[in-house]
Amino acid sequence: MKKTVSLKFILLVMVLILVLVFFILGLDQYFSFEYLKNTLDDFKSSYDQHKALTMAAYMGIYILVTSLSLPGAVIMTLAGGALFGLFYGTLLVSFSSTMGATLAFLFSRYLFKDWVQHKFSSKLAAINQGVEKEGGFYLFTLRLVPVFPFFLINLAMGLTPIQTRIFYLVSQAGMLPATLVFVNAGTALAQIDSPSKILSPGLMISFALLGVFPFIARGVSSFIRQRKIFSRFPRPGRYDYNLVVIGAGSAGLVASYIAAAVKAKVALIETDKMGGDCLNTGCVPSKALIAATRLLSRFKRAEEFGFNRASVEFDFAKVMDRVRAVIRKVEPHDSVERYEGLGVDCIKGRAHIRSPFEVEVGGRVLTTRNILVATGAKPLVPDLPGLENIHYLTSDTIWDIRTLPKRMVVLGAGPIGCELSQCFSRLGSRVTLVQRGDRIMKKEDPDAAAMVMDRFQKEGVLVLLNHAAKKIGIAGEEKELVCDHGGQEVRITFDEILIALGRVPNAKGFGLEEMGVELDKNANIQTNEFLQTNYSNIFCSGDVHGRYQFTHTAAHESWYAAVNALFGRFKKFPVDYRTIPWATYTEPEVARVGLNETDADGAGIPYDMVKYNLDDLDRAIADSEGHGFVKVLTVPGKDRILGVTIVGHHAADIMAEFVLAMKHGIGLNKILGTIHIYPTMAEANKYAAGVWKRTHAPKKLLAWIETYHTVMRKEKR
Ligand SMILES: Cc1cc2nc3c(=O)[nH]c(=O)nc-3n(C[C@H](O)[C@H](O)[C@H](O)COP(=O)(O)OP(=O)(O)OC[C@H]3O[C@@H](n4cnc5c(N)ncnc54)[C@H](O)[C@@H]3O)c2cc1C
Repeated sequence: MKKTVSLKFILLVMVLILVLVFFILGLDQYFSFEYLKNTLDDFKSSYDQHKALTMAAYMGIYILVTSLSLPGAVIMTLAGGALFGLFYGTLLVSFSSTMGATLAFLFSRYLFKDWVQHKFSSKLAAINQGVEKEGGFYLFTLRLVPVFPFFLINLAMGLTPIQTRIFYLVSQAGMLPATLVFVNAGTALAQIDSPSKILSPGLMISFALLGVFPFIARGVSSFIRQRKIFSRFPRPGRYDYNLVVIGAGSAGLVASYIAAAVKAKVALIETDKMGGDCLNTGCVPSKALIAATRLLSRFKRAEEFGFNRASVEFDFAKVMDRVRAVIRKVEPHDSVERYEGLGVDCIKGRAHIRSPFEVEVGGRVLTTRNILVATGAKPLVPDLPGLENIHYLTSDTIWDIRTLPKRMVVLGAGPIGCELSQCFSRLGSRVTLVQRGDRIMKKEDPDAAAMVMDRFQKEGVLVLLNHAAKKIGIAGEEKELVCDHGGQEVRITFDEILIALGRVPNAKGFGLEEMGVELDKNANIQTNEFLQTNYSNIFCSGDVHGRYQFTHTAAHESWYAAVNALFGRFKKFPVDYRTIPWATYTEPEVARVGLNETDADGAGIPYDMVKYNLDDLDRAIADSEGHGFVKVLTVPGKDRILGVTIVGHHAADIMAEFVLAMKHGIGLNKILGTIHIYPTMAEANKYAAGVWKRTHAPKKLLAWIETYHTVMRKEKR
């Protein structure tokens, strides 16, 4: 590390010395227009005598001047035309300028890129993404328009992640038109009074037009691509709908609601139950079961609250009945009646996309201007030998069981696996949670996951880490999961197994593949930032998109998808993923927004971190919930929040304040200056901000203030 820094330092000093020498010795006078005109004949005679040598010397000087970002490139280019003529002049200038530019780019990259990226990482994230995706394209435009200073482009591009090869090739191609103009002007040097005259207003306009050419070309090529893609499908004379939404889960419901609210004609097609996963097999039943099992856990902890003992008798089937009753109570929010009332045409049946303008359902063909695919996801069932021979549970089917399994294996320690392991363990099942990796909840920071792991162990959930499931065996009456654990075979017998290994998008079997809608290798539908697929009138949102699989993100995406579908011809909105919160409802709860330490470290993003432990919070102590923490990552030296992880009682609820703060650029100073009701869990946010304030206190200023107070104590009145 030290070696690299000193090497960089030596190189920087060398470059600076060369630049200083250039100016101190007055070498810049040799790169003036007058000097070129006055000495051109001498150069010409030297070229006549030593052609190759003059060309090599010319290239060497050109490369040196441009690589050190010295002024002189324009004069050198004119000299190229005057000395070598249009063809050779253009050839020499084109290669010399590109090589010099690439060297300058590499200097800037080597000397400054790491520092700049480190220092401004959070601000540069979007720029980096853009450059990685379309850097060559932007560079081409900058090169075509000669108003952007040549040396600045070289130095600035060096700070970005653009590949050197792309920089070289695009620079050479992009600079060619201007090179031609200047070399050509050089061939008639006698008729020019000043280099500034070369670029007449007409020529500048031509260059500007050339500069916007890539954008026009892109627009035209996308138009042609879209025409080609749509040409296979006849457009209907008129459309039945402005928007047909497929799937009435969280995503589809929100999109149809928005479409109906803005008076579009919208159809909502659902093959199964209105409300989709969230209502029927996801958030609602899982949170209802969690509520019941939290109560059980409270009873088990009766002694902590000063009671001798408390016990609960229960019938598992009745607990599951309550879960169903909760679903029934929420159902009206997502019902056909409600949505019909809002003006949505709700259609029961399995939709099949026949063309970008036609969706078939139950033998009926609906014509539509736009389609929204909101078909959700389903549990991933692994290719595990023997699984096909047994009855297994997934998050789709677990809600139907009426008998509590005595021994339960949960395969996968993500949010669903963790939430349900704790629930069934609390209900009395002997739960073994099997995880291939070395920790549970791998998306969260290790300290957050460790708190949940600790609780699991205290409550009796057996967590087997580094256990890779190999097969399901049947030994007599017993079913067993066979795992590989560091080369050793481990067998776990069970009565029920829950597969909780993630979710795969429902993107197949209803027309998308036949039409060539692009999917990635995990079958997630590919979209642009406006949530358009490669068919510009087919949009997608929610779990089928696969980016974030939460109800609130499904709703968030659906706003963009619906608005872009209905009003995109006037303005389209890129979906904003900057502040996405989520939570896992284990006890302790784990909530997160923005960056955590693991992600920040992985992306090389610098941060300051403060942690406030909830064992210090009055309300948490009063509730016997004094465990967990609020961890805040901020921009180094600033109070701007990069991300927050909260572990503890009601973590998801108290996170809301940080979500709002991040969304609206509110820093920790403002959270600290906000009154929070005493005693609440939410006060933890203020205290975390207080920890930040203390660790960022201006030490020197405080030392001065201390001196002031000392003097004040001594002063006689
Ligand atoms: C156990 C569990 C707990 C969860 N807990 C939470 C939580 O606490 N918080 C949270 O934010 N998220 C949670 N989620 C995730 C959340 O449920 C999903 O992110 C959300 O339901 C996604 O909504 P969606 O509309 O994209 O998909 P879905 O809700 O799956 O809806 C898609 C709908 O499309 C229908 N469909 C599919 N194909 C067709 C077709 N060809 N024609 C017609 N209809 C079709 C399906 O029948 C389905 O109803 C949980 C998920 C699970 C499984």
